Amino acid sequence: MAKYVYFFGKGKAEGSAAMKNLLGGKGANLAEMSSIGIPVPAGFTITAEVCKIYYDKNRKYPSGLKAKIEENLKKLEKATNKKFGDIDDPLLVSVRSGAAVSMPGMMDTILNLGLNDKSVEGLAKLTNNPRFAWDSYRRFIQMFGDVARGVAHDAFEHELEEVKRSIAARRGIKGADSLVQEALNRQIPDTALGVDDLKTLVSRYKTVYKKYTKSDFPQDPKKQLMLAIDAVFGSWNNDRAIAYREINDIKGLLGTAVNVQSMVFGNMGDDSGTGVGFTRNPSTGENRLYGEFLMNAQGEDVVAGIRTPLPIDGLKKKNKKVYEQLQSIRKKLEHHYRDMQDFEFTIERGKLYMLQTRTGKRTAQAAIKIAVDMVKEKLITKGIAVMRVQPSQIDQVLHPTFDSIEEKKAGVFSKAGLPASPGAAMGQAVFSAKDAEDWAKQGKDVILCRLETSPEDIRGMNAAKGILTARGGMTSHAAVVARGMGKCCVAGAGDIVMDEHKKEMRSSGYTVREGDWISLNGSKGTVYTGKIKLISPKVSGPFGIIMKWADAIRKLGVRTNADTPHDAKAAVGFGAEGIGLCRTEHMFFEGERIVSFRKMIIAAPEVKRLRDAIEQERDADKINELNKQLREPLSQYLKALDELLPLQRSDFEGIYKALRGRPCTIRLLDPPLHEFLPHDEKGQKELAGAMGIAADRIKETVESLSEFNPMLGHRGCRLGITYPEITKMQTRAIIEAAVNVYKKGIKVKPEIMVPLVGNVRELKLQKEVIVEVINEIKKEKNLRNLPFSVQIGTMIEVPRAAITADEIAKEAEFFSFGTNDLTQMGCGFSRDDAGRFLGDYVKAGIYEKDPFQSLDIAGVGKLVEMAIVLGKKTRKDLKVGICGEHGGDPDSVKFCHRAGLTYVSCSPFRVPIARLAAAQAVLENKKSALRKRKKKR
Ligand code: PEP
Ligand code: MG
Repeated sequence: MAKYVYFFGKGKAEGSAAMKNLLGGKGANLAEMSSIGIPVPAGFTITAEVCKIYYDKNRKYPSGLKAKIEENLKKLEKATNKKFGDIDDPLLVSVRSGAAVSMPGMMDTILNLGLNDKSVEGLAKLTNNPRFAWDSYRRFIQMFGDVARGVAHDAFEHELEEVKRSIAARRGIKGADSLVQEALNRQIPDTALGVDDLKTLVSRYKTVYKKYTKSDFPQDPKKQLMLAIDAVFGSWNNDRAIAYREINDIKGLLGTAVNVQSMVFGNMGDDSGTGVGFTRNPSTGENRLYGEFLMNAQGEDVVAGIRTPLPIDGLKKKNKKVYEQLQSIRKKLEHHYRDMQDFEFTIERGKLYMLQTRTGKRTAQAAIKIAVDMVKEKLITKGIAVMRVQPSQIDQVLHPTFDSIEEKKAGVFSKAGLPASPGAAMGQAVFSAKDAEDWAKQGKDVILCRLETSPEDIRGMNAAKGILTARGGMTSHAAVVARGMGKCCVAGAGDIVMDEHKKEMRSSGYTVREGDWISLNGSKGTVYTGKIKLISPKVSGPFGIIMKWADAIRKLGVRTNADTPHDAKAAVGFGAEGIGLCRTEHMFFEGERIVSFRKMIIAAPEVKRLRDAIEQERDADKINELNKQLREPLSQYLKALDELLPLQRSDFEGIYKALRGRPCTIRLLDPPLHEFLPHDEKGQKELAGAMGIAADRIKETVESLSEFNPMLGHRGCRLGITYPEITKMQTRAIIEAAVNVYKKGIKVKPEIMVPLVGNVRELKLQKEVIVEVINEIKKEKNLRNLPFSVQIGTMIEVPRAAITADEIAKEAEFFSFGTNDLTQMGCGFSRDDAGRFLGDYVKAGIYEKDPFQSLDIAGVGKLVEMAIVLGKKTRKDLKVGICGEHGGDPDSVKFCHRAGLTYVSCSPFRVPIARLAAAQAVLENKKSALRKRKKKR
């Protein structure tokens, strides 16, 4: 027969901390504490396996269980020197739930079990405190009736109220019969009940119990115990426990274990007490006992906030011996568990008992400090320290956060948004990028609120403290740009009705108008009305130390997605080893570039139309005529590109300088051209004025460039194929800038990346253009070879490219997986529209997480793996990176390590997250390899 019951007590235990699945967290740690000599009230744990069998067998226990419980009860009686149901000195127990994963308050507990009409008298005599004994008994009947037999809580409360009214009448309080409950409780608190009142109450409670259960309150403690065990196992499947497991994604547990443990009382007088503690400060990580306590109280008084507990240092005055014992237990627990512990204790008549210990929850700041300190104290290795910090906690260290108490009290405007860029921000709502810029110039803090953003909004986004959009997903323009800037962003808050014209938005019964204060939590995706206090991030010494340890462990390179010298510099500061993606289009909105760029776009379609016509024409005269017509738009087109060249060149010079010899992958122009033109009449008129042409011409161009599905339209290398002059200008800027910077004695490592390739011939054609420009430059500068290497590679972001990666690798010296587009095209989800339904998909379990946030390993991941194998078959030394947003997601980074990528690239603020996740991937793989090897043996 399997072992179903495990005993602990008196410095011994049958179980251990390693048996959490079977004994639950609480049971396993009680066993462990007991066996390392920490004072724990004796008891036994009925395993979670019994819970599973109980449900599998339609609420029946495995045979022999009852006998085992009886056997362990006897042991418990022996260990405590007390007898269950004894009239003079009764053994009383608590019956508590405890699963492998903590589910605070979700399941049931019964205290003081073992009391009956006789033993209550015994307890009164023994403790010389009849009030305590009768109060314990009435609490037990209420708890037992409620939990084990489903007697309505209110029915007991009603009786308590009646007794209090009679006390009030006795005291001559006027209108005692009609006092509302709150006033009654204020005048007659629970503590006002004397022994006789409590005896009356016990009798009334028993009547209630009988009325509801049609049976007398059980006097036999063994019967009480079996019913209590039934109730605790039953609570595994109560509504709140089921909901808690669903919400917290707790799966695969056997059930709950049941802990039957002898009671100790913290409310036996002034030499008794109870408290909770942490072995180190859970918010700062300081290596010092932290916690609070109350004398003459029970645990629930501390939890329920009925009395205000005192800081634990105060215990030194009340009972020095116990305080010192607690200090030595703190050390013992940490040396044993090698982690910060969160514990509960009770002092019964001057004797200390530990009731529970578990790994303590902590802030990011504390997690990092504790991990580093514990290495210094030789408690853990550097590898364990690196595993102890959750990559997602890094966000808390690098970005401002809200004061959590204030955040809980704030009015929620929307909860439907995506946590697009972490951190917290507050500001006055503005509804256009222009207003964001103007208001910020006046020194105001603003939140830019838009239906969605476009490249046109970039300056306003930069000026705002935070960005809110009602549309778009995790890879929408707003999300990508905000992450790049390290700016808080909530995207795709679909429950907000955004009225940019009226300058207001509505949701959850609130209307936010221009100038109203709002607050964004970009780590949760929540929007609040009003201001919430911000807490500034603190990057302390331990953070740098843990990052250094992570770097020594990881194999995966970590680069950044950055488009400006400023971002590149910031990313290098965060530890980036180069740029993995420089999206050149973002630069076109800086300064005067946009004017020249728009001039080029206005001329380009006409150039294409005439070139197509010339190609199709056979008649020499007509060709001549067409060539004449081409002259003007072509010269405008080339002139605009000439204007752009020095501007782009200086951008690249700045970036190379910031990188100081680190590699820099620069992607050629990617978005569809119409994204760069104003779509509203006002904007078009302004542009026409600036360019000295008719507004209609701009309107026509916008219309002619418009597409039904721009994401699959004229973008990426398709632009360079239609307009090779754009590729030429960009290549020239990239190479000339590299030459200039190199001449200043700064190393450079340019890598030119062609986007959206699906067919090797696209890459081949673009590469020919790139090589031609490089050769021209060499000639112009009289160089046989460039003094630095230039690699030409491609993004793998179209499924066809992944499938034909062996062909593509013939032309590409490196691959960079654009997993935003690869997810879009691989899963068939529009990047801009999927936000509307992906939440439902995740809820329904179709995808575990939003595949734009965390890589869909089973699907898109397979494309990545396939492309790496195929690519390396053609080119053994092929460099493979990832530059989609997944490059900063911890789970995706770990996948990239396993798949054998060379590096990941992510926005600057996520670089430390990626560094840590990459190190954890190495450690996790080692651990699982070790496990496999052990299994084989
Ligand atoms: C991608 O598609 O993953 C990518 C990095 O490019 P973008 O997001 O600019 O399309
Ligand atoms: Mg892309």
